[in-house]
Amino acid sequence: MKIRKDDTVLVIAGKDKGKKGSVRQSLPKESRVVVDGVNKVKRHMRPRGTVRQAGIIEREAPIHVSNVMLLCTKCNQPTRVSFRFLEDGSRVRVCRRCGEVID
Ligand SMILES: [Zn+2]
Repeated sequence: MKIRKDDTVLVIAGKDKGKKGSVRQSLPKESRVVVDGVNKVKRHMRPRGTVRQAGIIEREAPIHVSNVMLLCTKCNQPTRVSFRFLEDGSRVRVCRRCGEVID
């Protein structure tokens, strides 16, 4: 996965297209991410069992990583990501626009 928790991403498809937000959760198995304030769905909760909060609550639903682009922390542009290996063998992400290491 090119997107990780706490990354800032730009939504490029869907009803929240153009929104920016930080990644709250990444779900690598499903190739999805939960982004703050993006893809909100209303859920009707009933006070049952452990759920204390009743009524209609809004929460973010996961969206597919192909619908977001990583915002580079260096050049502040939405970018695609490539990988590079450092001398110590660790893998880092690299911005394809400015060539800077993002991690
Ligand atoms: Zn960049």
